[in-house]
Amino acid sequence: MLNIEIIPCLNDNYSYLLYDRDTNTVAIVDPSDFKACDQIISKKYNKLDYILNTHHHFDHVGGNEKLKEKYKSKILGYEIDKNRIPGIDICLKEKQNFKIGNTSFEVIFIPGHTKGHIAFHFKNEKIVFTGDTLFSLGCGKVFEGTNKQMFNSLNKLKNLPIDTKIYCGHEYTKKNLEFCLEYDSNNELLKKKSNWIYSKMESSLPTVPISIGEEKNTNIFLRCNEPSIKNALRLDNASEQEIFSKLRDLKDSF
Ligand code: ZN
Ligand code: FE
Repeated sequence: MLNIEIIPCLNDNYSYLLYDRDTNTVAIVDPSDFKACDQIISKKYNKLDYILNTHHHFDHVGGNEKLKEKYKSKILGYEIDKNRIPGIDICLKEKQNFKIGNTSFEVIFIPGHTKGHIAFHFKNEKIVFTGDTLFSLGCGKVFEGTNKQMFNSLNKLKNLPIDTKIYCGHEYTKKNLEFCLEYDSNNELLKKKSNWIYSKMESSLPTVPISIGEEKNTNIFLRCNEPSIKNALRLDNASEQEIFSKLRDLKDSF
């Protein structure tokens, strides 16, 4: 059994503390900030076996070295980022399986936001950590890869079972909602969801996790084949991937 605790860090980042109860194994996904993470780790478990990084950006690896120093943790990241992830010990490969105690995950390679971005898919638990690739109602900016790579990466995530829970790297949901409503204004499920999002925001509660199924119905970046969206962009005959690129460009200046 795997416990997950959300740790809000910095302005709008989320780190995730994982606990494999059967084996008393502790791991953290993307420790943005040493202090915020350690406050909870030291109080709850006072140990940290593994640090999992989705990508090399500072707001995801900022706590790596101090946590490693304090807890002698092993740091895991994608192999091609071995020179960019601070303190990395274990270089993961695409589709590799790794165990946190008795709980295993598979590495999904999802480049686009960065060249070495990965997701951690816990198949049995139906959980995926998507970093800055898939957010609730949005997707990450394409910094190092191409729009095509990002599109393909999102498709990999979109094809996971619909009841898979998504834990993403940032709380960007409100801003993402505004963008989705702009170009997918007739989506009833999206409108329904907006009330739920505003109530979470009012209580300062996270809008994660969300499910793949929900996102397929409401996240515009996963709906690039919808005729109504193509029409709203006045690109009725464009391909799914062209619609994605257009939306990504529009979102960059939204
Ligand atoms: Zn990032
Ligand atoms: Fe980030």
